[in-house]
Amino acid sequence: MNFKKSQKLYDKGLVNLVGAVNSPVRAFSSVGGNPLFIKRGRGSQIIDVDNNKYVDLVLSYGPMILGHRHKKVQKAVHKALKNGYSFGASTENEITLAKIVCDAFPGMDKVRFVNSGTEAVLSGIRLARSFTGKDKIIKFSGCYHGHQDALLVAAGSGLATLSLPGSKGVPEGAVKNTLIAKYNDLDSVKKHFEEYDDIAGVIIEPIGGNMGVVIPQNNFLKELKDYLLSKGALLIADEVMTGFRSKFGGAQELLGVEADITCLGKVIGGGFPVGAYGARNEIMEQVAPLGGMYQAGTLSGNPIAMAGGISTLKELKKQNPYEKFDAVGDRLSSMLLGAGKKYNIDVTVNRFGSMMNPFFTNVHVTNFEEAQTSDTNRFAIFFWEMIKNGVFLPPSQFEAWFLSSAISEKDMLIIEKAIEKSFQKIQEQ
Ligand SMILES: *Cc1c(COP(=O)(O)O)cnc(C)c1O
Repeated sequence: MNFKKSQKLYDKGLVNLVGAVNSPVRAFSSVGGNPLFIKRGRGSQIIDVDNNKYVDLVLSYGPMILGHRHKKVQKAVHKALKNGYSFGASTENEITLAKIVCDAFPGMDKVRFVNSGTEAVLSGIRLARSFTGKDKIIKFSGCYHGHQDALLVAAGSGLATLSLPGSKGVPEGAVKNTLIAKYNDLDSVKKHFEEYDDIAGVIIEPIGGNMGVVIPQNNFLKELKDYLLSKGALLIADEVMTGFRSKFGGAQELLGVEADITCLGKVIGGGFPVGAYGARNEIMEQVAPLGGMYQAGTLSGNPIAMAGGISTLKELKKQNPYEKFDAVGDRLSSMLLGAGKKYNIDVTVNRFGSMMNPFFTNVHVTNFEEAQTSDTNRFAIFFWEMIKNGVFLPPSQFEAWFLSSAISEKDMLIIEKAIEKSFQKIQEQ
């Protein structure tokens, strides 16, 4: 396996792109080496520009839940393309996708489409503030909610617990209304409510996916929701990653908790730029043109993106792959744990439905601090050996792997062999 053409493109890309990537998670800084350039994808697999083939467990960081270029999605998008790309006026497809989304999330009477998860969350936060008339927002350390200023704090970085910006260029003023709590620790939320009386709500990834996969323990979400209700504060579920992935109705359906405001992205566009935020009527009536909370978008509800979303969600509902995801995920888990045992490498696997990843640690990982006990050097070795054996993974210990419904038995055998080789390689180091 060689990466000559990728290397060439990388060098070329460095000239006019920042680090040759358009999102830092695509850089290979934490695993060494340079990013690969992808030529094409089909079903569960992708091919890079050097014609190396991989089983794809990145899947665009989640959106490609049906695998790449599903026939029905391709057909729907082609059809939409014939009618025009964007109008700045309403199209019927927006209503169709809105109904699919609101039917899936009982807590959503109305929805507003935007162009990314970041936009969905920043609008959802504005909405919570508008509805409650309060300014402060609590977020959990290790949870990522897109790159808006106010939430770029303790966002999967090392700046846990302090309300300090996790990025240069974010003024302290922008995060002064952001309070940090610890995932799976309700007391850390209560403490803030004891100190402040102007908390609009709590934003959470109902299943943590941006510090590696971290699962809510016991009744954490239910208890959080009940507590917030007693305080008149809102629960904002950032289901950008989990929406339509954990279950059709997202983590909320799976965990039996209804959020006040739900933010969506990734799967909802099936690979096209779609984000959304929604809530019950009483809350959504805050949003312009019905109310005084302004939020707009030139390309929002873009007809091509809507067609991608509608066809993806319809096919997803029909396939109902959630049981398959559990079975495949269980097998992958066992492969990783088995290899750990065989080669005497500490590994723990967190999995929730079709999101999963191993941590190279003997610690049971339930929050960001525990995730950070993972041996990232081992991950780097593991990552490259998986690549060389035909499995494409996110180039970071702290990213989730994703499954698509297109994954086959053949793919599973490729992954199994790759895992075996990779653990062997770690042991040899
Ligand atoms: C990916 C993600 C976002 C940001 O979405 P973008 O489309 O990248 O802006 C926000 N929240 C969560 C939980 C995510 O996984």
